[in-house]
Formats: sequence, C-alpha cells, structure tokens
Amino acid sequence: MNEPTQTKSSFDSRFSNSLKMEDETIYAFVQKEFARQQDVLELIPSESLPSRAVLEALGSVLNNKYSEGYPGRRYYGGNQFIDEVEKVAIDRCKQLFGCEYVNVQPYSGSPANASIYLATINYGDKLMGMNLAHGGHLTHGHKLNFSGKSYQIVSYGVSQETEMLDYDVIKKQAMEEKPKIIVSGSSAYPRTIDFKAFAEIAQEVGAVSMSDISHVAGLIAAGVHPSPFPETDIVMTTTHKTLCGPRGAIIMAKAKFGEALDKAVFPGMQGGPHNHQIAAKAVAFGEALKPEFKVFTSQIVKNAHALGEGLMEGGLRLVSGGTDNHLCLVDLKNAPIKGKEAETLLDTVNITVNKNMIPYDPRKPLDPSGIRVGTPTLTGRGFTESECREIGQMIAKVVFNPQDQSVMNRVREQVKTMTQAHPIYPTGLN
Ligand SMILES: *Cc1c(COP(=O)(O)O)cnc(C)c1O
Repeated sequence: MNEPTQTKSSFDSRFSNSLKMEDETIYAFVQKEFARQQDVLELIPSESLPSRAVLEALGSVLNNKYSEGYPGRRYYGGNQFIDEVEKVAIDRCKQLFGCEYVNVQPYSGSPANASIYLATINYGDKLMGMNLAHGGHLTHGHKLNFSGKSYQIVSYGVSQETEMLDYDVIKKQAMEEKPKIIVSGSSAYPRTIDFKAFAEIAQEVGAVSMSDISHVAGLIAAGVHPSPFPETDIVMTTTHKTLCGPRGAIIMAKAKFGEALDKAVFPGMQGGPHNHQIAAKAVAFGEALKPEFKVFTSQIVKNAHALGEGLMEGGLRLVSGGTDNHLCLVDLKNAPIKGKEAETLLDTVNITVNKNMIPYDPRKPLDPSGIRVGTPTLTGRGFTESECREIGQMIAKVVFNPQDQSVMNRVREQVKTMTQAHPIYPTGLN
C-alpha cells in the first residue's frame, strides 16, 4: 500500500512558512512592487497609502471566516467576534459621517452601486448620472457597464463654457426626463460638488437622491468638502481613495432605506462578507476620526492646489481653471503629446499619472486629450506645497519636451531626490 503523500512535516510547513519561504515567485513581485511604489511619484488620484495597521488587519485570520448575514443574524456559527468587528465598523462609520444607517459589507465600489440600484429601482427604469467623459463613473450608466445595460440612462455633463456643473441645466433636464434615481458624484471632477443641490432636484422630481462620494470621502469625513448629509437619501463610497482604507466600499443612508439596502447587499448582490476587509475598514474609520486626519486631508487639498499652480506655470491648462479638491484635470491641447503618450512618457521618468478624457473631448477614450493627477499618495508620504508645485512644473517640462533626453534625465534625478526624501512605510513591511 502507498503511504499518504501528505506527511505531517509538509502539512505543518503550510502554516509556518512565510510568503518568502513558500512562494518565491509571488514574493519577488511583491518586493518589486514595493520598490516601484517607493521610487515613483504616484499621482493617480484614486490611490492613497493605507496605514500599516490597515494592511495588518487585511492580512489577518478574519479572512478565514464565513459569516453570511448581519451581526446577530448569521447563517453560520462561530461569529461572535466577527459580529463585534462589524459592529465597531458600523459605529465608527456613523460617527465619522453622521449617517443614520450604514452597510459595511460591499466588496468594492462597483458592486455597492449595483446593490443600491437593486434596492431602489427596477430594471429598465431611468437612472440619471454624470457622463463618463465629463467625470462620471462607469457604474453611473456607461453603455458597456451593467448599469448601462440594465437601466435607461440619462447623462448630464458640465457646461462647455465653465467646465463646471450647472445646476439649473441639470434641474431642467431632470424635470424633463423624470428619472427614478439621480446619482451625483464623480471620478474626475476637480471642483466642489453641491450634493445638496442634487438632493433638492431629486426631491422635486420624485427621484431617489444618491451620492457617490468615492473620490472625496476622506475630505468629507474631515469637513474639508461639504457633506451630502442630511439631505441625500443614499450615499456610498469606496474606502480606498481619499479615505485611505482597504479596497472596499460602504453604503450609508437615511434609516428608511436600511432594510431594502441590507437585503440588496446580501442576499441580493453578495455572499459572505470579507471580514478581514471589514476589520480594516474599522481601523481606517478609527484613524479618520482622529484630529490628525483633518490636518492630513487639508494638506491633500493644499497640495493639489500647489500642483495645479505648478502645471499652469509650466504652460498647461487646467480644466475649469483650477481645483477645489484632491485632483486636477489637465488639458494637453497646447502640448505636442496628448494623454496616452504623456502617460507613457511620464512613466519613463517615474511619474505615474493616468490619461483621461476631458469634457467635450474631440479625441477617443484610449488616446484622450487629458491626464488626471492628484495628491493623496504624495501627501501620505509627507510631501508639501513647494514640492507639489515643483512636480507640476516637472510634468509640464516633460510633456512640452518629449524628445529632449536631457530634460528627461534631469526630471528623473529630481524624482529620485524627492522619493528618497519621503519613504513609503519608512520602517518597511513584512
Ligand atoms: C472608484 C469609483 C467607483 C468604483 O470603485 P471600485 O472599487 O473600483 O469598483 C465608483 N464610483 C466612483 C465615482 C469612483 O470613483
């Protein structure tokens, strides 16, 4: 008879080996990614640096537990501590945003939005959201997204003249179209959004008002951007952008929507909650409740303003002429290269940005006229205004001189000096 191949010692090693010992291939890529993050100026505005404590919660044994249901009403045994973690996340979130109800289980922003639509409207109903090319998100009605396939979409945009939201025009459109839900919020709008005005418009036309604050949630939590509460019916956010938590999302609402939203998240959209992620959200909310977080988010906004000034001093145009939040949308129309080439070229000097459509863009999504830049990650590393202004000027130099190797070399050196002066996770991670 054959001996079982699984010996006791190899079984033990599964639980004692570190990633480095167990899987050299993946370990090596994690190290490379760590070094890459250390060596670049990361300007993608949807990214940020979560704390070491958040990463630790994500890597915890809470990952191992199944807990379909909600605290006190689970479909699995053994959830006494998982229940407590979820309750802490809920309590801290309510305190942070001043909301009546919250569901902390959504896996990410896109399924959270799907859950909200599932809870509030029927397939085929009319959904009004911001045009992707003007700063909206895929889940606000893009034709290739589930939202565009499941609902009748009405898109609003910004004014061609000011490149800002014009609430009178949006109100007129809403009165004509009579949507069932109106989504406010954006992924690439550099200005303050008047969520209250959107809620009033929705109320007037009998629509549910929903705000997707994914990008500015950290600023709202700290009081640096006006909150959609108490006027807005339902508010959702990702937890990994300016909120600086783990990848994930939450749905907040007026109490009367709670039951329908809970049902839509589970069993409507999801199965078992990601408990390690919920614990990490609780940690991030705890951090955001500290007074330091207000100082930090104010610095994000100051840095974005300085970055914008540097870009303009270098000869670039900012969509809407400036920024009120954590990001700038840059129009490259007077530069010799456009969004796609700029993204690639800036990568070669270790500056990470993303190409982006600008409102009324004459070009195509895969090679648009703009780039989007933001400051949450830089601010997390301790960068301040003077450096952000300089980075704006460096970006302009690169995009105006794409053939000049001496410019590239000089900027690469400047990036190196800056990134070395501001390490990410100064004591390392394991
Ligand atoms: C990032 C974002 C989302 C989606 O988040 P994922 O976690 O990437 O699915 C939704 N809405 C807005 C406005 C966003 O910026």
